[in-house]
Amino acid sequence: MTEFKAFEPSVEVLGDVVLSVVHAMGAFKGLALQILDRHGISEPQQHLWYPQQAWLDAFATLAEEVGPSTVSQIGRQIPRQANYRPGLHSVDAVLLELDEAYKSTHRGGEAGSYSFRPTGLRSGFVICQTPYPCDFERGLLSALATRFASCESLVDLQHEAPPGQCKKHGHTSCDYHLRW
Ligand SMILES: [Zn+2]
Repeated sequence: MTEFKAFEPSVEVLGDVVLSVVHAMGAFKGLALQILDRHGISEPQQHLWYPQQAWLDAFATLAEEVGPSTVSQIGRQIPRQANYRPGLHSVDAVLLELDEAYKSTHRGGEAGSYSFRPTGLRSGFVICQTPYPCDFERGLLSALATRFASCESLVDLQHEAPPGQCKKHGHTSCDYHLRW
């Protein structure tokens, strides 16, 4: 497995996911829509399903255009715009529900998974086994933790060593230690 390669060609993604990334693009929104159109996703709509591989191909082109730090920024925007159920107040709880959220927006085959294991009162280990890029996952996890941590809390995200254990290098997952 690697970045931008669906685990199975039959997997579909909900338009809401595509749109949340498009909205997170800010100044690059027009470019994102153009690139999506080139990959067969014209004017993505909420509640409609699209082939995940076409979406990943568009995302890969987009990532090449904007660079890794912008991809990370895009990931950071996602939790800011998302609606979370009332009563969800802790970093642990939101990380434990991340897999369910992912599975509710992907269907049609093995799409991957997120898993979270607490390692302390305010720390844990997150395994991101999805085709989405490492830079995006980093931004997403940091922003999720920041949104749900107490306001004085600083979030620290470290990619699990050893080198090469990253989707950028064909590893099956990117694993992170998160502290907040
Ligand atoms: Zn990685």
